[in-house]
Amino acid sequence: MTLHAELHRHLGGSVVPRVLWRYFHRSDAELAQRFPEYPGFEEFYTKPRKSLDEYLELHTLVEGCQTLKTLPYFVYRLIRGAYIFENLAYLEIRYTPYLRTDAELSESERIDQMAEIVAMVGRASRLPEYPIVTSQILCMHSRLPNAVNRAIVDLAAQMPSYVCAVDLAGGDAQYADRLDEFVELYAYARSLGLKTTGHLYETPQGCYPELIPYLMRIGHGIQIPLRYPELLGQLAARHQCLEVCPTTYLKTGTLLDLQELQVVFDRCFDAGVDIAICTDNAGLHNVRLPFEYESLLTHDIIDFKQLQACQDAAFRHAFAWPHSDRPACLLSELLKSEVNTVALEAV
Ligand SMILES: [Zn+2]
Repeated sequence: MTLHAELHRHLGGSVVPRVLWRYFHRSDAELAQRFPEYPGFEEFYTKPRKSLDEYLELHTLVEGCQTLKTLPYFVYRLIRGAYIFENLAYLEIRYTPYLRTDAELSESERIDQMAEIVAMVGRASRLPEYPIVTSQILCMHSRLPNAVNRAIVDLAAQMPSYVCAVDLAGGDAQYADRLDEFVELYAYARSLGLKTTGHLYETPQGCYPELIPYLMRIGHGIQIPLRYPELLGQLAARHQCLEVCPTTYLKTGTLLDLQELQVVFDRCFDAGVDIAICTDNAGLHNVRLPFEYESLLTHDIIDFKQLQACQDAAFRHAFAWPHSDRPACLLSELLKSEVNTVALEAV
């Protein structure tokens, strides 16, 4: 039986449209008035955007709703849905904690409040009735000052029971002017023993080879096999894994057709670079992880053997999965012994 590991999911984009719309109508009169009927809201929320920047603007709508007070509401629904509808055994949730702090506070007060946000998300995501192994990835952000990003790295190192890694988000085209800063921040994170991933090589404008050596996994990275396949050998040697999120590229206009991913998978498999299939923003896309796998299969982009290789890779590259095997192996043993018992009883 397949249980999945999800390595790339944003807290902001994880809210499915119906949960968000209901939240507006329960708690936010202004947004409730802006979106009086559900179908109109779903259309607005999930429609494809022209660019990655336009797509990322939608996150601000959700970020504004996710405060210290409301986070348990959203996280509870995320975990419940992931357990019941997606068969997740493992989930890394990523977000920028600074953007969930109280915007009325000063920068230093907001930095101080980040620890409360992380603890709140951590507590809310561990539910005995929906037992998924969860951990958090804290995202530095390309539009935030260096001091805030550095505080995010420090916080990640200070809270290992809730946080497994750091990321860089906010649109990869924005990194260019501050590349040295981000290289230094990643070097600092690695010096603290932190694990690392980063949104990179997602779009043709977001290709920065200087950052690659600091990353253990690459958020998206599809432009590497598409445009710079000569880099794949280095990735394989460093055991770096790509976090490929198929639906995102259609929603952001990065790819026009899912079929373009065929080259990504073929070149990575040939070069020995692992791929974990992820959702990125399952709520925003209204697409759950098992569907991402199935869709690649039905479009003949991968076969069953490759699908299983990707499922294995997700557990192997998970930053905080505590077991040596993926859960399918553990369950298979359990189910096999049940079958044997039933067979013996039949005799
Ligand atoms: Zn992402």
